[in-house]
Amino acid sequence: MGMRVLVEYEKCCGAGQCVMVAPKVFDQRDDGIVVLLDETPPPEQYKAVQEAVTVCPGAALRLEESA
Ligand code: SF4
Repeated sequence: MGMRVLVEYEKCCGAGQCVMVAPKVFDQRDDGIVVLLDETPPPEQYKAVQEAVTVCPGAALRLEESA
């Protein structure tokens, strides 16, 4: 069982908190909108991604279980 990161790009306000807490999973475009670097991150990244989901001010990020 793995985890998949889902991004609702239209909700991203470009604040960059996700990049600060999980730089291996998220980057930002020049205009600030999030870039998903790793849609199915390894387990050692789950905590950081969960943190990013929590701190994202636009509620643009979700984690779901994937087979
Ligand atoms: S924390 Fe949320 S709003 Fe900010 S850049 Fe990341 S996805 Fe976008």
